[in-house]
Order: sequence, then structure tokens, then C-alpha cells
Amino acid sequence: MTEPLDSLLTNSGLEPSADLVLKIAIPRPLRRSFDYLPPPGVDLSALQMGLRVEVPFGSRKTVGYLLGVGQSEVADKALLKPALSLLDREPLLFSDDCAILLWASRYYHYPIGEVFATAFPVLLRQGGSAEPACVRLLGLTAAGRAAAPPTRAPRQAMLLQVLQESALGMATAELNALGWDWQNPARALIDKGWAIYQDGEAEAIKPGVAVTASPHQLNPAQQSAVDAVLDSLDGYRAFLLEGVTGSGKTEVYLRLAEQVLARGAQVMILLPEINLTPQLEGRFRARLATSLVVFHSGLAEPERCRAWLALRNGTASILLGTRSAVFTPMSRPGLIILDEEHDASFKQQDHFRFSARDVAVMRARRLRIPILMGSATPSLESLGNVQSGRYVRLALPERTGVAAPPVFRVIDIRKQRLNEGLSDALLAQIGAAMARGEQALLFINRRGFAPTLICHACGWVAECQRCDARLVIHAAERCLRCHHCGHEEPVLRDCPKCRTADLRPLGLGTERVEQALAKQFPKARLLRMDRDSTRRKGSLEDMLDKINAGEVDILLGTQMLAKGHHFPNVTLVGILDVDGGLFSLDFRAGERTAQLIVQVAGRAGREERPGLVLLQTRQPEHPLLRKLIREGYPAFAEAALQERRAAELPPYSYQALCRAEANDEQTPALFLTRLAELAAGQTEVLALGPVPAPMPRQAGRWRSQLLLQSAERKPLHDLVEILIRHMPQIPETKRVRWSMDIDPVDLF
Ligand code: ADP
Ligand code: ZN
Ligand code: ZN
Repeated sequence: MTEPLDSLLTNSGLEPSADLVLKIAIPRPLRRSFDYLPPPGVDLSALQMGLRVEVPFGSRKTVGYLLGVGQSEVADKALLKPALSLLDREPLLFSDDCAILLWASRYYHYPIGEVFATAFPVLLRQGGSAEPACVRLLGLTAAGRAAAPPTRAPRQAMLLQVLQESALGMATAELNALGWDWQNPARALIDKGWAIYQDGEAEAIKPGVAVTASPHQLNPAQQSAVDAVLDSLDGYRAFLLEGVTGSGKTEVYLRLAEQVLARGAQVMILLPEINLTPQLEGRFRARLATSLVVFHSGLAEPERCRAWLALRNGTASILLGTRSAVFTPMSRPGLIILDEEHDASFKQQDHFRFSARDVAVMRARRLRIPILMGSATPSLESLGNVQSGRYVRLALPERTGVAAPPVFRVIDIRKQRLNEGLSDALLAQIGAAMARGEQALLFINRRGFAPTLICHACGWVAECQRCDARLVIHAAERCLRCHHCGHEEPVLRDCPKCRTADLRPLGLGTERVEQALAKQFPKARLLRMDRDSTRRKGSLEDMLDKINAGEVDILLGTQMLAKGHHFPNVTLVGILDVDGGLFSLDFRAGERTAQLIVQVAGRAGREERPGLVLLQTRQPEHPLLRKLIREGYPAFAEAALQERRAAELPPYSYQALCRAEANDEQTPALFLTRLAELAAGQTEVLALGPVPAPMPRQAGRWRSQLLLQSAERKPLHDLVEILIRHMPQIPETKRVRWSMDIDPVDLF
């Protein structure tokens, strides 16, 4: 990561001359910078990397990013256009941030201009002003933050809720965009002393002091984890905090944040999902009186922009964000915390395919601050990094307080008659939990009613016409839907092939299990949580409130349930079907399945009452499953790592996946064959393929892939560079859409 480009900017070796040009990164898929003449009257020696510059590009204006100042490579100076204006007096990115972006562009082999653009919120990317606009913001007072919504005044309640969700207050324009009369309720909230108008930036710097002392004394494991990180606050070190669910990881984060704030530094906290932010935000706000901002894609652009600038300018001390927040500049960096580090959502799956976890580690290193990555089920990559000494492992081996680990029981469903996927044993336990006034949680891998519609006369199944995938039945909306391209059609009555009226749902989805449960337990209060039922904004929060208020008896849903939520009343967990995960082609499937089982199981019995986990399977003898259930995740992970080592798979080797797609079947394979031929000359890199993608046709396009693998990073990256440089000479390049995925986490 030694980056010579910094020095370009000092101008030291260069004569001040009219020949100097601005080297600008343009946010387009172009692997080079562009030369522009400086705008008249600009002092070149004062310019720094990362500055936003407005330039003409093609027939339009665009915002580019200054990489350096130097001699032009364009021979004919008359061809150079002048830059139009400098958008900032000083760069919004600090030099360490620029260095990370340059590293990321090289490491992920992604165009520099697009990498720079990724670091900025959309408004700034579009050239918006970074000056703290002097707008009138409606914000909440401390009393307003703590207030419960007034039940008699629904509009006030609505406005209060909107404001409670916005960290920095809202501008009039944003409030108007709500589309309802907010002015009258605003006046009422102000009269109550709950809301207040403020000018300019919403919050001034507040010292980071604890408002509420911690209710707990740290246990020895927590204390030594906290001490270890505190001991390294002055430099870089990567820590892996391995703690079973409910072992008090969040408590460790809170203590560390408190200490870092007390030293006047900032904390960046990264989470895999928007859905997890409200809960953590609540815990941080309840404990620390400091300005905390949230940054994720669910926020309105102006608010995201304000949050980004607040961290950049130091008016905020804590940032809570998802993947895209990892590039946010910090004026006083102190600590990075990344929770649920094993979660694949940290990897961006399109365009700029970076891993926010890996970028965060590189950033911490560059900023010379510690990073703490937490998980109950660490990724094998991170455990590999512990083995090799790159990460320091900190363990919280036990649940806090009285909570005991849940008890696992495997239900062999091979010779059983199931009731819509539910075994008698599971049904009996659900009934028993209800009788005790406790909650049951059921995990099903798939949303919708059933994964497909089949003809019992001829065996025809409903397939998407544009993908190699089956259509999923959605009963509530009475449609068949493709989960890959979104294609929808009405549910058929008769088989289109043999005309028999005997079409039946095949397989299980959340909707179908919900129906079956409603029949079995007519008095039960059911709640289904999946992507369909939580689509409306705020619905997930409502659901979580209901669960925690004890207004739900049986909770069922997909992956969403597995992630981080705390359900104190759940004592029974049923896992309906994970067998699919045990037999996938992806070598990471076993790891994912194990993580999912442990995470779902971790929702059970988090308080006084013990938890029971029932796992339905047709593979009770599966070695991986047995290891996991008998000996726990660490033992499973060790065995899985040994297998990876023997098979020379990551983390014991490095991969890059080149994907290509086109409107016809042959072109992607032809394109990738040319690359494979080039790769064949390299002995240190193995080229596997090209092969058709696991789903060869998606949304009407044909897809192939070529996997590159090497025992060392360098030859792999060198080869990738060579392949990309060579592409313009391959005739098929123009007819495919290709991407290069470095360290792919999903081979699909
Ligand atoms: P995790 O993040 O590992 O799932 P949490 O930090 O949410 O765990 O802690 C789980 C529960 O235990 C919470 O209710 C928390 O308040 C409580 N807790 C945390 N640390 C302690 C402690 N040292 N003593 C008692 N209770 C604790
Ligand atoms: Zn048929
Ligand atoms: Zn489709």
C-alpha cells in the first residue's frame, strides 16, 4: 500500500509551468485518468488529491476527482480542455482515504473514477455543495427523543416517529416531501418541548460521556477483550471477537466506544444489514450522549449526505452504517467495529465488488487504529487469519447471566409423514411452548407459498421463460414469480402441457407453513417475517415491537430471523429444512449452512428459560451436521478449515471469478475461452473453466464463468491485470458484459 501518487501532488520536482495539467479520475468504466488544463488563476501547488473538479466530458459536464498534477501525456496541448471549476476548497477525502481508494481500485481491478465516486454520497457525487448549508432543521430535544408517541394525536405521533428516525433533524424541504401536513403537529411538538428549530448543522460537537452507566459489570472474558483493544488504541491491530450469541459482544462494543469517545476520537460501526441498525442505534443512544449518525441506503439522500459530512467534519462521533459507509472519511479516527463479520452482505455483489470487511481492515491499518470484528460464527477466512497471526482472537465463550446454551435435537424426517413440512414432534413442541406462554420461532429457507407448481398428471413444472429457474408460487398475491428476474404471471388452473386440472404446489415456502400453522393452532398469534412481509417501510420495526411485547406466539420466517435480533421470549426454535445447503456445488455452502443453523438457534432461550432447537433433516448422518451439533461451531470450523487446506481452497488459496453474459449462448464461453488460453501460460494460476454459470440463463441472457485460483495473491492479481489489458483485442469483448470478482464469496 505504499502509494507514490501522494507525492505527485506536492509538485516539488516540477517547475511551475503552464505545461502542468490536472490528472482527473472520471466516474466511467474507464481504466485511466484524463488530463485537463487547470481553471485560470488556480494555484496548482495548493491542490490536493481527492478534490472534486467539474469537467467537460463528452458532450456533458461531470464531476471528476483530482488524482494529481503533472506533465500531460497528450502531445498536442490544443486538444486539452480546461476544467470548469474546483468544487471544494480542500478535498473532502483525507489523504489516507485517497490511498485506500487507490489501493481498492488496484486490488479489485475496478476503474479508479468509479471507485472514488463510490466513496461519496450521491449528492456530492453530483457536484452538490459540501458547505454546511444554513438550513432550518426541525429536530428533537432530549425529551422528544425519549418521548413515546402520543396515542390521541396520530399526526404528532407520526411526525415524532419520523424525527426519531432521523439523527440530525429534518429540513423543511424533506418534511414537505412527506406529503402530509407536518406544520401543525410540528407546532404541537415544539409546544410540548419535544421539538426545536435549529439553524445550520444540526448538532454541535458534544463530548462523549456516558449518559447511563452500564447496567452490568463486565465478566472476565468481556473485560479482557475490552482491555486488549484498549491496549492497542494507538496503532493498527485486527481483532476477531468470537462470542456465542448472547455472550455480550454488544456490551464490549459499547464500552470500547465510550473509551474511544472519551479520548476525543471517532468510532465507525459497520453492520451487514439496514434492518439491524435500529436496534443497535437504540442501545448506543441510550448509553452514550454523543452525536451519532446513521448511514445506509434506506435514508433520504440529503440525510445520508449530512451524516457523511458530519463524520468528515467531526461534528459526529459515531457512525453506524452498512457496507457503503466503509469509505466515509473520519476527521478523528479512533476505532472501527464490524459486527457479524461472517455475513456475505459485506461483499458487494455487483459493479464495484468490494468486501467492506476487507476494506475496513485495510483502512484501519492505514489509519493506524484497531479494528474489532465480531461474530458468533466467524468466517473461515477470518479464522484462517487468526491461524496465520494476522488477526488476534478474543473469545467470549459463555452466554451472560443465567442464559444457558440451547439444547439441539435432530429430527429424522425420512420415514415420517409430515404435515406441510412440519413433523409431529415439532408440532407437539410448538403446542407445549404456547401452553407455557412462550414463543416459538420457525425457520424456513424460502419465502412465498411454495418453490414451484407441478402437474401431477404429466410432471410439468412452472419455469421462468427468461431464466433457468422455477417460478415461486405467491398465494397472497395469486401469482407465480421468478425470484431472479422478477417476472410474474397469474397462477394457472390447468396444465399448459397436458391440460389436466391437477396442478399442485411443490415444496415449502413461508406462506404455506403459515397457513398450515394457522390450521393447526387456530388460536395462535402468527407473525411471518420475510422480504415480502417487511417490504413496507417501518413494518419490520413494528414486527419487532410486537414480538418483544409478547403479542406473538409463533414467529416464522427466512434468513431475516437469523440476524442479530434479540427475542427474549423465544424458547423453541424449529429449523424446517437445511438439507439443500448441505449439497450445494458451492464449496462455501457447508460453512453458510452451519452459520445459519447456529445463528437461528441462537435466538432461543436468551434469558432465564432454556432454549430447545429442533432440526428437521433427511441427512441426520451428515458428518458436517453431526460435528456441528455434537461439538459446536468452533469444532466444525476447525474440521472445515482442514478440508479447505487439503483441497487448497480459500482461505488457503486466492480466487478471482470472471463472469460474462450475452444475448446468445456461445459468445460468453468464447470470450472466456480466450482468457483461459491466455491464462494457460501462467503456471502459478489455475484456470478452471469456462463453465456455464450455475444458472446459465438469467433474465434472458446467457452466462458463463471462468474461475482463477492461485496459492499466492500476487500471480493471481498480475494475471487478472494482464487479462483485463488484453480484452480490447478480443473480438467477443464488445458483445459480452463481463465482470471480475476478486475474492468471490458466491460462485453464482
Ligand atoms: P451479543 O451482542 O453477543 O448477542 P449482548 O451484548 O446483546 O450479546 O448481550 C446479551 C444480553 O446480556 C443483553 O441483554 C445484555 O444486556 C446482557 N449482558 C451483557 N453483558 C453482561 C454482563 N457482563 N452481565 C450481565 N448481563 C450482561
Ligand atoms: Zn400436465
Ligand atoms: Zn426469471
